[in-house]
Amino acid sequence: MENGTPENGSVNGTQTDILPDLSAFDGVDFSNADLHDVVIVGTGPAGWTAALYTARADLEPVVYMGPEPGGQLTTTTDVENYPGFPDGILGPEMMDRFHEQAERFGADARYGTVTHVDFRERPHRLLIDEETPVYAQTVIVSTGASARYLGLDNEQRLIGKGVTACATCDGAFYRGETVAVVGGGDSAMEESTFLTKFADKVYVLHRRDELRASKIMQERAFQNDKIEFVWNTEVIDVLGEDAVTGLEVINNETGETRIMDDVSGLFLAIGHTPNTEPFEGWLDMDDSGYILTKPDSTYTNVPGVFASGDAQDDEYRQAVTAAGTGCMAAIDAERWLQENGRVSPEPARPKTSTHDDPVEAAAARS
Ligand SMILES: Cc1cc2nc3c(=O)[nH]c(=O)nc-3n(C[C@H](O)[C@H](O)[C@H](O)COP(=O)(O)OP(=O)(O)OC[C@H]3O[C@@H](n4cnc5c(N)ncnc54)[C@H](O)[C@@H]3O)c2cc1C
Repeated sequence: MENGTPENGSVNGTQTDILPDLSAFDGVDFSNADLHDVVIVGTGPAGWTAALYTARADLEPVVYMGPEPGGQLTTTTDVENYPGFPDGILGPEMMDRFHEQAERFGADARYGTVTHVDFRERPHRLLIDEETPVYAQTVIVSTGASARYLGLDNEQRLIGKGVTACATCDGAFYRGETVAVVGGGDSAMEESTFLTKFADKVYVLHRRDELRASKIMQERAFQNDKIEFVWNTEVIDVLGEDAVTGLEVINNETGETRIMDDVSGLFLAIGHTPNTEPFEGWLDMDDSGYILTKPDSTYTNVPGVFASGDAQDDEYRQAVTAAGTGCMAAIDAERWLQENGRVSPEPARPKTSTHDDPVEAAAARS
């Protein structure tokens, strides 16, 4: 089978049950679409690092910045654990520097979100903001993951000012203070236990009366004197103007509300959502939507498509690990391109739609 040709629902050799919906491509004229060696999707630490490396390899990468240019670190203040900044650096400033460094070597950063992809054959086809067609010899997916928040107005306003979703990143700022962790799974147990290294007291607020976390993680947390569990409890407001000064919580059994005015930090540990929706059905993912990469590489199941950063990592989720895999993706893409060469788009392509018979469509192209 020619690389990328759909046969009976097979995408680049990986069996899929249903060919992803391609109706968004109907009527889009690709005849004048730009063709790039490398398209990088996302501009967090992973995307900018991939851009830096591919730009220095003269691959003239185009980088789409997506809904959150600079990524998650633009929502935080001090970053103290990125090597090379002994005094720490503000998250947005750090991402500006990543951007500047990638552009210095020729990365072409563009506003726009990749909304649809067609990975049936090379060059890969992408739609930016539902309408702009682009061809790519290789694609590096660095779309990150979004931490889940409760959705309260004051919680959103105080993100980076006492509200955070990253204990590893922000725990050290709460030395000697009292903090609250929301959640009941393994991450909540791990984060609350970790926070006791710094905080004098850690409340675990859980909306049920039992935890989802594994027994061993629960036991570890139960045995920690600094952790206090507050059951059947939900946060209904976060108090404070420029910093968190307390929480308003409700007991969902009794309906009683109260203020916890000793809390100066709120840590959400209710999961992350990888931003991988446009790639669903094309790239192999785990049950939560994280892209699966081949061991010790950034290769996905689709040849010429690589994944880096939090979009493929639900374990470490750090700027430095995202940057590391961004570098790997750039090197993987460069070598892959060297080995597989470049292909030109076909002059006239058949109508693409899920309603097409994939076998007939493949035959029409051959
Ligand atoms: C509050 C907070 C504080 C943190 N503090 C630290 C810290 O101190 N130290 C640390 O190491 N880590 C920290 N982290 C974690 C760190 O931010 C992430 O691990 C890192 O940003 C992941 O990088 P990434 O490049 O994979 O993705 P992200 O930073 O999530 O960037 C994703 C990028 O993809 C883009 N995108 C998404 N979908 C599309 C699309 N369809 N088309 C085009 N673009 C798209 C977005 O616009 C964004 O630019 C923190 C996280 C949070 C939330």
